[in-house]
Amino acid sequence: SLLSGKFSIDFKGAWAEGEPAPYALLTQAFSMIESTTKRIEKTSYLTSLLYTVLNRSRGKDKTHEPDTQTLLQTVYLCINRLSPDYIGIELGIGESLLLKAISESTGRSIPSIKADLKKEGDLGLVAMNSKASQRTLFKPKILTVPSVFARLGEIARASGAQSQAKKTKIITALLAACQTTIGGSTSSEAKYIIRSLEGKLRIGLAERTVLVSLAQAIVLDEQERLGKQWSKEKLSAKLEEATSILKQVYSEVPSYDEVIPALMKYGILELPKHCKLTPGIPLKPMLAKPTKAIGEVLDRFEGKKFTCEYKYDGERAQVHFLENGTVSVFSRNSEDMSKKYPDLVDQLPRCFKEGVKSFVFDAEAVAIDKTTGKLMPFQELSRRKRKDVKVEDITVRVCLFAFDLLYLNGEPLLHKTLEDRRKLLREYFVPVPFEFDFAKASDGETTEEIQLFLEESVKDGCEGLMVKMLQTDASFYEPSRRSVNWLKLKKDYLAGIGDSLDLVVVGGYYGKGKRTAVYGAFLLACYDADNEEWQTICKIGTGFSDEALQEHAKTLKELEIGSVRGDIKVGGAKPDVWFEPKVVWEVLTADLSLSPVYTAAQGMVDPRGISLRFPRFIRIRDDKNADDATGPEQIAEMYERQALAQSKGKKKGGDA
Ligand code: ATP
Repeated sequence: SLLSGKFSIDFKGAWAEGEPAPYALLTQAFSMIESTTKRIEKTSYLTSLLYTVLNRSRGKDKTHEPDTQTLLQTVYLCINRLSPDYIGIELGIGESLLLKAISESTGRSIPSIKADLKKEGDLGLVAMNSKASQRTLFKPKILTVPSVFARLGEIARASGAQSQAKKTKIITALLAACQTTIGGSTSSEAKYIIRSLEGKLRIGLAERTVLVSLAQAIVLDEQERLGKQWSKEKLSAKLEEATSILKQVYSEVPSYDEVIPALMKYGILELPKHCKLTPGIPLKPMLAKPTKAIGEVLDRFEGKKFTCEYKYDGERAQVHFLENGTVSVFSRNSEDMSKKYPDLVDQLPRCFKEGVKSFVFDAEAVAIDKTTGKLMPFQELSRRKRKDVKVEDITVRVCLFAFDLLYLNGEPLLHKTLEDRRKLLREYFVPVPFEFDFAKASDGETTEEIQLFLEESVKDGCEGLMVKMLQTDASFYEPSRRSVNWLKLKKDYLAGIGDSLDLVVVGGYYGKGKRTAVYGAFLLACYDADNEEWQTICKIGTGFSDEALQEHAKTLKELEIGSVRGDIKVGGAKPDVWFEPKVVWEVLTADLSLSPVYTAAQGMVDPRGISLRFPRFIRIRDDKNADDATGPEQIAEMYERQALAQSKGKKKGGDA
């Protein structure tokens, strides 16, 4: 069975009947998950953990109501979050505060802790070792999942004048309550508490693994409760069904706060009926695949009905309108942007007809010229303040271009064709000059038509086109997917420049000459989601104005950390300072090359890594998180394409 194999968790610590799960159970699971790189083993450990938490809460005779709250908190702790993304209660406590708390709870001096940190590169490990070598006079009360979750919440929410002191106090108490040993082995509670507080657990768990494990745990729990022993075939069919339902539901309602209680109440098969796309809860946006040439579009869409839309150069905006009149605007990362766009919130009621009670549409917010309505480039939009914007102070005017309707009057539309969704959008909404419009579209079929429309889009100030399937289930809205049913055709690709990359700033090099007060160059990295690590890719230092360098220095100074984090695969790069991976930059490059220094995509096309030659900074991407950065697969693919193009070019040259 899935649970009796060697990848299950055999908890060695104390856990009294009727008590919520001990935090040590989680940290034991974390250690095991961290110890392997194999996805299947990680999944088994996590399934075992979630099953144990759930099943045990039903009591010995399995008749108790399950402890939904503890299960929910266990899931949150596993992904190191405290709330759904859009609520945005975040951890990410600075190093100096953590050093202080470790020092206070273990009695060690800060310099000696710092010295260990330099050696180990992991403050969690340092905290754990400091605890292990400490003699405790009394046995602390066991930390449980609910107690740790509650403390982490208090820390994240602490604000105001005394907040630093308050945080230090809670962290110190948490660390003091960690056990030194559990069942004869060193306890890793302190290690994971510190890592949680730092904002990154580093056990290599992807969100999809959590969904798979949760589905498995539910099925296994059901089997046990029913006293059944399903055949291997039946069990695997049930696991597959549960996983697919849960993934589907979560992509529509990415909130465990909603999904887990409903799951416990109605069971997996009934879940889709009770948990549907809901205005107010942003769903993960559908994403597009890049294409190099119009020919590629036709290869994919030949003989099918498709539409080309302008690809506007602005910021993605998912607009929600609730029956009670509330308007919310969410970013690509599900951040609430209503405070950044109070003008959009004000304008919105003018753009829909009577009879519309609730909706969710997908749109691009674009800066426009106040007098002519002409589209302005993204740079214009980025001049707007991000927070506490007052309508009367706004100088950069924004127009919304809607391209999809996902929900209307109580009904999710994701499983309607794009043709039908678009019909509803055009039927119920009305363009308002300078405020709201539909994305300009043309349902062309030939290369020539696409080419003409592409040129027109560029002339009008767009980045190119989005080409989308219009009919059949291939045109359904696929939340969170980078789908082949949406292709992006940017003018840059056609000019042979290739797609830009979104990279994380992980290190800084001090400037020279008159730039010594700022960083003069930066170390960038891509993000490998499978291994949960950032891989270095290039140093970027030219093309920044003095003013830009000042700005970057201001933001990055606050992210400086004493030593490199363990989840940055450094290679041979040697920046002067390291940063917490947080800031994402969009970068263009003319050329990719193999490199013995950098680690991006190492082992994918060559034992060496891949590096960018002559990288050029385009813009800050504050609508992307550090783990939304470009992945190594995409970099390897770009490298291979370039190699292919070069060999073709050479051949052509030879023939001539
Ligand atoms: P990705 O979102 O694919 O990771 P990205 O954020 O860098 O990459 P692009 O590669 O520029 O974005 O392309 C997708 C984005 O284009 C969408 O997220 C959306 O903000 C924007 N966009 C503009 N016009 C449209 C349109 N008509 N349909 C869909 N998206 C559009």
